[in-house]
Order: sequence, then structure tokens, then C-alpha cells
Amino acid sequence: MTAHFDFTQKPWPLLIGGQESAAESGRVFETLDPSTGNVLARIADGGAEDADRAIAAARKGFETGWGTLTPKARSQHLMRFADAIRARAEAFAWAETLDVGRPISITSTEMEGLADSVEYYAGILLGLSGETLNVSDPTLADFTLREPIGVCGLITPWNYPALLAVLKIAPALAAGNTAVLKPSEVTPVSSALLAECALEADLPPGTLNVVHGGAEPGMRLVTHPDVGKISFTGGTVTGQRIFEAAAKGMKRMTLELGGKSPLLVMEDADIGAAVEAAFTDNVRNSGQVCAACTRLIVQRSVHDAFVAALEERLRGVRVGRAQDPETQMGPVVSAAQRDRIAGCMEAAEREGAEVRRYVELDGRDDLKGGFFLSPALILNARAGMSTTREEIFGPVQSVLSFDTEAEGIALANDTEYGLAAAVFTRDSGRAMRAARQIRAGTVCINAGRKVSVDAPFGGFRMSGFGKERGKDALLDDTQLKNVRYALD
Ligand code: NAD
Repeated sequence: MTAHFDFTQKPWPLLIGGQESAAESGRVFETLDPSTGNVLARIADGGAEDADRAIAAARKGFETGWGTLTPKARSQHLMRFADAIRARAEAFAWAETLDVGRPISITSTEMEGLADSVEYYAGILLGLSGETLNVSDPTLADFTLREPIGVCGLITPWNYPALLAVLKIAPALAAGNTAVLKPSEVTPVSSALLAECALEADLPPGTLNVVHGGAEPGMRLVTHPDVGKISFTGGTVTGQRIFEAAAKGMKRMTLELGGKSPLLVMEDADIGAAVEAAFTDNVRNSGQVCAACTRLIVQRSVHDAFVAALEERLRGVRVGRAQDPETQMGPVVSAAQRDRIAGCMEAAEREGAEVRRYVELDGRDDLKGGFFLSPALILNARAGMSTTREEIFGPVQSVLSFDTEAEGIALANDTEYGLAAAVFTRDSGRAMRAARQIRAGTVCINAGRKVSVDAPFGGFRMSGFGKERGKDALLDDTQLKNVRYALD
């Protein structure tokens, strides 16, 4: 691993129809390194007209290029795309570290997952097929076809930009669609690298297009008649706006939105394991993880022991610049996020909870210019408080307590969201009851948040709908046609 990576050499372009392109307006925007506040890179600032060009290229690619390839050819192309990604693993690691602020000690081992995810879909697309149906009418032969939808608009957030883009691109292309990716303007660099990988893998023109910029090109994807599906990951309010706008065009949708996931600790649990899971969710990516367990719901008899052990862990966190190999927790992504999160903690204090911050940051010269926060807990939190209900998206968790199993599950379900949950208990009956009764798209038993490309992930209720990862993401990127063939 090199000690530094320079992303400033060029303004990073859009990718449209297999060609690198400036924005039509000629505008560029800057992205910052959140550890220092310095400019990290300059990026072409796409607008609606650039989205139009990308959609036209994707449409053409669907009709005359990628959309006409055999499954085997698609799979081979995707394997080459995976190779190009793997060859740039170090650049991707630095992009995530310098653009998002996730420590290099973590990103340096994480990036293998990008290529693995593409390879997973390159493999399973070969098994994609319809069914022959035994319908009751003897005069008919009946079968189904799994067909691609056409052009998919992929809109991603800033917290895991490389992985979340790959988890949309790979199934969309595997299913035979073409795509326009609109990455977050807050952390665009890894998507610019993905565009380079698409060029290097020689994907047919128009297969994958990348339009950087903000809401304007994003909304153009959502409203354009030639886009058949929108796959969006981001905040719930943005998701609602997009859902409403996409409804006019009756577009298919996957919505991966916010969360306020519970971690339920029963008194018979392995407390050490539960503490580790809570600790990881506080610190990982500075708490900027959609499925992080941010409501720690602990049975009263073990509450104090759990909190004491978790506090001990949080006091020891090495907060520092993400590029420092010793750092465990880097900055949050921007000054705006830092101030918003700090405001949430002040609100909790005003509502009568006790907020404890575990790492002293004042006076640290090495953190100057960066957007740093201490890991924190909101103790004595109550169900109705704003910080118990709303997503904070930072290194802050609320601690609540309960007496009976039924109360614990009711507290876990006392949220508008339903992305994920974790339950710690040694009683298998309790574990199964909780798994069934908790309303969330993923429930982990005796493990913290665990995700992998081969298992479906996606929320219930205000956390959205549709699945990413697993076979279901591939199916969600197809449409099912029924063919009814008269035999007489
Ligand atoms: P955001 O909603 O602000 O932005 C997400 C994307 O939407 C960005 O690319 C942005 O440019 C674009 N966008 C914004 N307004 C738009 C509009 N009107 N039309 C079209 N596009 C628009 O989200 P964020 O702040 O980047 O990300 C944080 C949020 O993402 C959190 O709420 C988090 O929970 C959520 N998230 C969810 C998951 C999941 O899998 N469920 C994963 C990661 C993040």
C-alpha cells in the first residue's frame, strides 16, 4: 500500500457512450478530503443535458450493443470489469479513505469485495431463466421469460460510494440492462474510477454511463421516459421525492433508504459479543452506515454491565486522520454532517438524556481542518425522543432498557424504519421469536450487522423496498413475461 494517492491530476470526466466527456456546461465541482478539509479532486459537474446524453447512449447500447449480447458474453465482459476493478484495488481504497474518511486500515482490506460482487453476478446471470408452467388449459404451452427492463438509472449516496455503486451496476448489467450511474456529489471519486474500469474492460459503448453532479441529473433520470427502472440508495426524504416523481412514468424501483436499527440484548446473552457488535456499529465509517444498530435496547438486569463494557471500548478508540494507518475512526464526511450530528446530541441533552463523549478532541493539532467527532452514547434515552426516532448517521447510539422479552421486541419495533436488527440471546426459542417478530429486512442473531453479496438486503416500511445483493437483486432488475402458446 502506497503512503499517498494523488487524485488531483485531472478533472475527472463523465462517461457517456464509451467516451470520457466534460459536462456540457463546462462546469466542474470540488470534493474535499474530510480529514484535512483540503481539495481532493475536481469532477465534471453534470446537468440534465448530460443525463439526457447518457440516457440516449444507454438506450442505444440496450438496443444495439449490450442488450443484444448472449448471457455468456455478458458474463465474460463482467469478469473483465471485475479484473479491472481488482487491479485498481489500491486506488479504490485510497478513494474511499480520502473522499469518505474511512480509515485506510479498513479500506485496504475491504476493496476485494468490489470485484467479488461483480464476479458473483457474472456467475449467477448464467442461471437466469424463466419457467415452464403446468397450466390447467391443455390447449396451451405456457412459459415465462426473464427479460431485462432497458435503461436503469442508478443513484447512490456518499457513505460507501464504491460498493453501493457496484451492487447496483453488477445486477443491472448482468440482467441485460444498460445503466446510467449518478453518484453522490459528496464522494464522487470511486465512481470516476469505476468509469475507468468500464473503459478498460471494453464494455460496449453505452453499457455503463456515469454522470456526476447533484439532484439535477438525478431527477432527470427519474423523470426521463427512456429510463425503465430507478435504483436509489439515500435518505428517506429524497427517496419519497423520487418515488413520487417516478410514479408519473410508472417506473420500476428499488429504494434503499435510512434506518434506525435496534440491537436487542437479552439478559442471557453473551454480553461481550453484544458489546463488540455495538462498538463496531458506533465506530465503523464513523457511524455513517444505513443499517448500523443505533438503538441499543438492553434488558435492565444487564444494562449497567453492558454500558460499562461498551464505554471502556469507546474510550480507547483511536480517532484520527483516515490516511494514518493507526486510525480506527476517521472524520465524518463533511462540516455540514459534523454540525448536524452535534446538533442532534444537543437536542438529546435538551430532551433530558445524558450524552457522553468518550474521546477528547479539543486541542489536537493533527485534526485541524478536518470534520471530527468523538464516539458518543445517549444514555437514559426514551422511546419518544427525537434522537431515538430519527436517523443521526454519525458515531452516536441511544441506550434504552426493558424488563420483559415482549417489551424488548416492542421497543425494537417502535420505529418507522425497518432496515436491519440484531438480537443477542443464548435461548434459541427467544432468538426465533425475535427473528419472526421484529419488522426488519435483515435480522442477525448473535452477530452484529452482517451483509454479504450473496444474501438479500433491503428494508421494510420507511427503509424502502426491493432487494440489493443476492439473487433477488438480479430478479428485481428483470421483468417477467408470460408466453401462452396455443397448441391447436
Ligand atoms: P441523499 O438522499 O442526500 O442523496 C443520495 C443521492 O441522491 C445522491 O446521489 C444525491 O445527489 C441524489 N439526489 C438528491 N436529491 C435528489 C433529487 N431530488 N432527485 C434525484 N437525485 C437526488 O443521501 P446521502 O446523504 O447521500 O446518503 C445518506 C443516506 O443514505 C442516509 O439516510 C442513509 O441511511 C442512506 N443509505 C441507505 C442505505 C441502504 O442500503 N438502505 C445505504 C447507504 C446509505
